[in-house]
Formats: sequence, structure tokens, C-alpha cells
Amino acid sequence: MSELCWQDECAVMAVSLPHGTGTAPRLCYDGLRQQQHRGQDGSGMALQNRTRMLSQRKLGLVAEVYSNGWLRHNFDVAIGHNRYATQGSPSLVNLQPHRAVTVRGEPLSLASNGDLTNFRQLRRQLKRNGVQFVSTNDGELLAWLVADGITETGSIVGALRRLRGTVTGAYSAVVLFRERVYVARDPLGFRPLVITALPDGGIAVASETVAFDILHADATQYGRVAAGAILELINGKVVVHDAGWPDTTPCKFEHVYFSRPDSVVFGLPSSLVRRRIGWALGRESHIRRRSRVIVVPVPDSANWIAQGVAESLGVPYEPGAIIRSHTARRTFIEKEQRIRDEGVRYKLNPDRSMLEGMTVLLVDDSIVRGTTVPKIVRMLRRVGVAAVHLLIGSPPIRFPCFMGIATPRREELIANRMSQAALTRFAEADSLTHLSLAALQASGGPWTAWERRRFPEVLALYDRAAPGTLRAKVRKRLASAEPGRYCYACFTGDYPVPIPRSTR
Ligand code: AMP
Repeated sequence: MSELCWQDECAVMAVSLPHGTGTAPRLCYDGLRQQQHRGQDGSGMALQNRTRMLSQRKLGLVAEVYSNGWLRHNFDVAIGHNRYATQGSPSLVNLQPHRAVTVRGEPLSLASNGDLTNFRQLRRQLKRNGVQFVSTNDGELLAWLVADGITETGSIVGALRRLRGTVTGAYSAVVLFRERVYVARDPLGFRPLVITALPDGGIAVASETVAFDILHADATQYGRVAAGAILELINGKVVVHDAGWPDTTPCKFEHVYFSRPDSVVFGLPSSLVRRRIGWALGRESHIRRRSRVIVVPVPDSANWIAQGVAESLGVPYEPGAIIRSHTARRTFIEKEQRIRDEGVRYKLNPDRSMLEGMTVLLVDDSIVRGTTVPKIVRMLRRVGVAAVHLLIGSPPIRFPCFMGIATPRREELIANRMSQAALTRFAEADSLTHLSLAALQASGGPWTAWERRRFPEVLALYDRAAPGTLRAKVRKRLASAEPGRYCYACFTGDYPVPIPRSTR
């Protein structure tokens, strides 16, 4: 990975309010706090009015980064970002938003989610043109590409259009320029980006809809920013420069793991997709025993998948059998394996009273390096379970992601090094089932005949939903969804964009 690090799993947020409202910093903060799960290393915000552009970036959780004084600033536009560094150290300079200046000396500030795959070539080119980068982050590269494009094309919209042809990979970006927010998403639509009207006037843009719930926006009106779209938010209103087109390869891992279950991602509630994954996983697991069997999730990310498994198999769901400490941070991201190992013990604790003597169907969303599941299986054995069957809500992850999800290098992916049988032994489990790719694909498509037969009462909630409700929107989306229209590259190695040798 050399000296360069990518931005990886992040959240973006932007707010544009009618002139004179003044509460943009507070609303932006609320949205960032709700998206903390997408980035826990640090947070940043930029504000602009007629006379100045202010910026605040600090390592730490959102609640620690902004003072009351900052939140009381009287501004109508704000953009923000939470960062989750996965390559390289979580350093201050790599936090977003990044600042660049046009040749006329005008500042702009940019925050983006996603990774560019031709990052190195573009950076070399800009360096030759005299840009002095202060970070190793591709958000800064995007900021300078936009500043450069303004000179080349004469407008920021021209610059954003030019990006679609020059960069490959994923970007869901918000740019603060001349007291306006510009919004742009890559042509294939890898990472999510959503937009809403705010109840007291104004517009917000975020990575996930949970950021809008806290602002009391109307969930039935949440919209998606289309792939390739270019929008301008001015004075609390939207100007559509390019409406964009349907996503070609939105990231399926957002549904599997990354987004919050209470977010509507790519038009579908993640909770529903995960429950359907669980339904299929239960079916594919071939578990036949029913007595003294319980379904236990690895909390919290696998809760909905596990609920689906329990419904599918008709066995009790026990979400409290392993308790997760909510003060422990994500372990996945720690640089050293030793710390990752310890982290799992600090984070999770099994409740012996519920587990002793039981056959446990332990459900997790994914196996990446193989750090988590063997530790949990051992924990369960220590409290006297009779057997542990592992059920994983995704196919084996064999390929790294270069578009913004932190998966390590190929050699570190355990499914690459071990057969299913070896992995089962490594995990010290009695059996291991991964979801099939076909079932994962079906989880975002029309209801299957089996689901219709098996879960009529759940499906009826959607089928009979009154027009204009969220469930009616979901029904429409499911009916028209093409399940193949996602990026499954971490499972298949089939990358939708070229991955230069230097990036691999
Ligand atoms: P591992 O322990 O390395 O096998 O990683 C799998 C565990 O980490 C699962 O419990 C997931 O919920 C979680 N996970 C999977 N992918 C990621 C990711 N990109 N970032 C953070 N956590 C992840």
C-alpha cells in the first residue's frame, strides 16, 4: 500500500438552509452523529458565508470533536465528514473536508465517501502541475481535481462533469463553493447518497437516511442522489444540473454489513434485506434439529440476519445471549492482530444462563480475516454449549474492495487461504454455512415464491401498504429491482472498473 492511504468507509453530510436561518452547523452535527458507525477515527466540518470559510477537523468521535461554540456559529451552509481510516494511520491531515483553491484564489471544501481506483496516476499528474498535497487521502485529490477543473472548464458544474471522465472508482461527494453545496456521485453509483427536504425549510444530503430521521424529515420523501448526478443546493433549494441515471453497481456489502439496519439504502431498508438474507441462510443451512437449539447473533450487525434465520427454521431467537459492550470500539480496524484479538474479548460476553447445554446457531454477517468467529466459538464452548453451527450471511469474501469498503489484501482474507472444511476446523465450529451468491442476489429483488409461501404475514405488510407510505415505496422498488445490479466484487473478483496494478 506504500505511503498512500485511502479514505475508505466514511460518512458525508451536507446542509443548505434558506438565507438567514443560521442553524446549519447544528443540523450537520446531528447528521454526522447518526452516521458515526461509518467512521470513528475523526470528523470534520466546513462552513461558509459571504465573507469566510471556516473548517474544523479533529480525531475522535463526533460528540468529542465540536464545541458548543462551533455549533452556535450562524451559518446557512455546512458540509461534514466522518472518517474511518483503514489503510495508514488515522492522522489529522487525512481527515475531511479537504480544502483546495482555484487559480483565482477562491476556496472550496470537499468531502467524499468512496475510493478512486486510478488515484495514483491522477495524483502524479497533479503533482507535476504543481499541486502540493498535505495529505495522502484521495478526498484531497478530488478537491484539487475540482479546483483544476473550474479553471479548465470555467465552472464548477463543468469541473464535476469532467470528473466523470477522469476518475474511476467510487465517489459520493459534497463540495462547498461560493456559499453553495454541489453534490456529485460517480457514474456507476457505488456508495449511497441520499437527499431530503427539511421540515423547517432547506435541504440535507447524507450517506444514510438515519441522518435525516434525527432531523425530523419526512421518511416518505427521502430521495436518492442518482449515479452521475450533479446537484446544486442554493439557499435551501435544489438545482438539478444533471439528473443522473440508475445505479449500475451499488455496493451490496452496504446491505450485508456496513449501513445501519434502520437506514433505507439503495431504496431498500437494510433491516429488510438482512432479514431476507437470514431467511435464505436458514434454508440453505440444512440444520434439522429443533430441540434445545437457539439462534444467536454476533451483535449488533448480524441481529437482523439472525432473526431471519430463526424465522426460517422456526427456532427461538436469543439476541441477548451474547452481550456487546457499547463502549468498545470496532475491533476490525485495529492495526495489530493481537489488539484485534483482545478487542473481541472486551467487546463481547456470553450469558452462560442462556447458553449452557444449548446447540447454538451462531450468525454473523461476514468472515473477513477470521478474527471474530473463532474467538466467539471458543467463548461459547467455555460456557458449556453443546454445539456451535456457524451461519454466515454472505458468500466467502475472497477479493479486496477498491471502491470504499475496508477489506484487507487478498492474502489476509481467510477464505482465500482455506477451504470451507479447513475454515470450519479453524473456527472450531461443528459446521459452517456461507450464504450462496444467488441467495444474496435474490435478497434485493422481487419476493421469491418460497418467501411468499413461507412468510405471507410479513410480505402482506408490504403488499397491502397504502400508497404514499414507505412500505408502498419499498414494494415498488422490489418489484422493479434487478438483483444483479449491484457490485459483488468482494465475493466474485469481478470488478466493475479497471483496477490498475499499482492499486492492487
Ligand atoms: P473478521 O473478524 O476479520 O473475520 O471480520 C468479520 C467481522 O467484522 C464481522 O463480525 C463483521 O461484522 C465485521 N466486518 C466485516 N467487514 C467489515 C469492515 N469492512 N469494517 C469493519 N468491520 C467489518
